[in-house]
Amino acid sequence: MSVVVVTGGASGIGRALAAALVARGDTVAISDLDGDRVAEVAEALTEHGPGKAYAAVLDVADAEAVADHYQSVKADHGRLDLVFNNAGIAVGGLAEELTLDHWNRALDVNLRGVVHGVHAAYPIMLEQGYGHIANTASLAGLVPMPMGIPYTASKFAVVGLSLALRAEAAGRGVKVSVICPGFVDTPLLTTGNPGLPQTEMSKNIRTFAKQAQPRLYSAEALAKDVLHGIRRNKALIVAPASGRAAWRAARLSPGGAVRAARIAVARYRRQVE
Ligand code: NAD
Repeated sequence: MSVVVVTGGASGIGRALAAALVARGDTVAISDLDGDRVAEVAEALTEHGPGKAYAAVLDVADAEAVADHYQSVKADHGRLDLVFNNAGIAVGGLAEELTLDHWNRALDVNLRGVVHGVHAAYPIMLEQGYGHIANTASLAGLVPMPMGIPYTASKFAVVGLSLALRAEAAGRGVKVSVICPGFVDTPLLTTGNPGLPQTEMSKNIRTFAKQAQPRLYSAEALAKDVLHGIRRNKALIVAPASGRAAWRAARLSPGGAVRAARIAVARYRRQVE
């Protein structure tokens, strides 16, 4: 039975991860910006058991609040085995449509949110001599994804941060993995640019996602893949299979990946103009 933190756990991938962890008997601290929803999720998961879920309101963009949260989980449960720095937002639109607020929000939540989680969890795990940090990036952290470049930039940064930290943490008892899903059918695909000006892309992410990946993956299937990858201490957990194929193609031909992205941009411009 592990003590686990899941940020952004009130919805989608975070909720599915928390459900799978509670179902295997873990103690899970689920946090989210949405206090009502995270409380409901924790209550429902604990009712099913056999593990337990605790809810906390947390904005991952707030470094101090993240540090306090991770410290209090360690203090309450005696240890911190596994953390999922998972909270994230979708930001969509062509570069010329996006303001600095779009850029800053994507970086504050998707990148700094992970930085804050790592900065809070890593010293605790070093002191314990064990632990596993799992950061959620995206396939858009491995393959250039246009029409949402702040998102892509934040996710490439999370991949780099995670792989480099994995190298530093190796031999100190701390494991680090990075999760790179293709499109997963969650509310993220219908809540783009939260609190920010909307674009055709942000209003229709789900439609465009289906053009790129006709079969959206389910959060539950992804959670299974992720826990399997964590058990095997994989550096990169890429799913579904179509995502692994796109990643392989981009490694074989980085120029080809940019050409594929150009085709997607041209199709997007035709559809929205
Ligand atoms: P989701 O919208 O269903 O869930 C994200 C949760 O994060 C929400 O409950 C939201 O309230 C919370 N959140 C947002 N900002 C927050 C903040 N500042 N602090 C704390 N919580 C916050 O989305 P999801 O699809 O489950 O996404 C989870 C992660 O997976 C994200 O990092 C996302 O970028 C990544 N991802 C998603 C997909 C996809 O297609 N859905 C693909 C690749 C990667």
